[in-house]
Amino acid sequence: MKKLVKIEVDKNLYFLNQINNFLDPTYIYLPTSNKEFKENDYIYKNMLIEENISSISGSIKSIKNSILQIKNDYKENSVSNKIKRNIKNKEDLLNLLEEFHLLSLKDKIENKDITHLIVSAIDEECYSLKEFMILANFYSDIASTLNTLLKTFNIKEGIIATKNTSEASIKNIKSILGTYPQIKLSLVPNQYLISREVYLCSYLNMPLDSTLILTMQDVLDITNALKGKYTLDTIITISGNNLGKSLIINVRIGTLLKEVINKFIEIKENDYDIYVNGLLQGYKVSNFNVIITKDIHTIVINKKIEVFQDECINCGACIKICPLNINVKKCFIEKRYSKKCIGCGLCNYICPANLPLKEVVKDGAYEEKNN
Ligand code: SF4
Ligand code: SF4
Repeated sequence: MKKLVKIEVDKNLYFLNQINNFLDPTYIYLPTSNKEFKENDYIYKNMLIEENISSISGSIKSIKNSILQIKNDYKENSVSNKIKRNIKNKEDLLNLLEEFHLLSLKDKIENKDITHLIVSAIDEECYSLKEFMILANFYSDIASTLNTLLKTFNIKEGIIATKNTSEASIKNIKSILGTYPQIKLSLVPNQYLISREVYLCSYLNMPLDSTLILTMQDVLDITNALKGKYTLDTIITISGNNLGKSLIINVRIGTLLKEVINKFIEIKENDYDIYVNGLLQGYKVSNFNVIITKDIHTIVINKKIEVFQDECINCGACIKICPLNINVKKCFIEKRYSKKCIGCGLCNYICPANLPLKEVVKDGAYEEKNN
């Protein structure tokens, strides 16, 4: 197993301990391919629109490019009945996940013979604090749901894994472990990619094939479903060296990032770069017209820097650092992508010539040929 690396972070941007709420956006935006929707149709909170749940109630203001713009009427008119659910076995859990439209979670669980369970509070991207903040703030719910899942899968012991630097969540979770003797806390080193199944199972000495690893967001989604609720909000970290201060914000899913920025964020200089989902694995966008979905966990707003690309100097650093042992330099020169690449961004991070290696090897930004 390749040795993982520690990424240095700017600690001034990192230490945050409070979640701000922004649960009353003026509009939310939901994609749909349903042509029957028209302007002024009424949308209820908790209404399922194909893959998405409406997080507010209100009327459709416009439909552009198959995206509904829904204007909040702040009435919270809801179609949900909030009846608590009980689950006794895996089948009940799968039905619950189906009912609450947690389909990727259902897929993850459905065909796996589960003997071990890890709930991970490890954020992969350096400036994301989503998983950490969920554990720090909802530790009681997380432990209770983990306890239910252990019974559901008939597993004797469950692990909550968090970085050994996550002081706030460690303190909180330790305070309730006495109530749940079957839950153990495992502290892992602050190394990049340690949250990936293969590395985490190896570090915790768990079988890869039969260990289910859930994120804190997964467990929060199940907690909500057990309470008869959809997950309508998501936590994002907004950070970067061009901000007055970094913030963690709980927002309604479907909110436009622009509205969040206007309300909460003080931007210092006018020239900046915006990255969605972090500097290593994320992508750059040109403006704040980004719809916040559950998949978005981090926004980084940094002062603009001109990056000059040089010729490859054959230093070999990209090959040495790649956790998948890909010959990154060769792929880049030959403009080939690799199916093995996990898009971790370490090659870009290390390259002294500032070459867009990941963009070629993972994303196939040039001519695509299988490796
Ligand atoms: S982005 Fe892909 S090629 Fe680059 S280091 Fe990560 S796995 Fe290797
Ligand atoms: S890290 Fe950059 S400069 Fe070094 S071998 Fe790889 S591509 Fe070339």
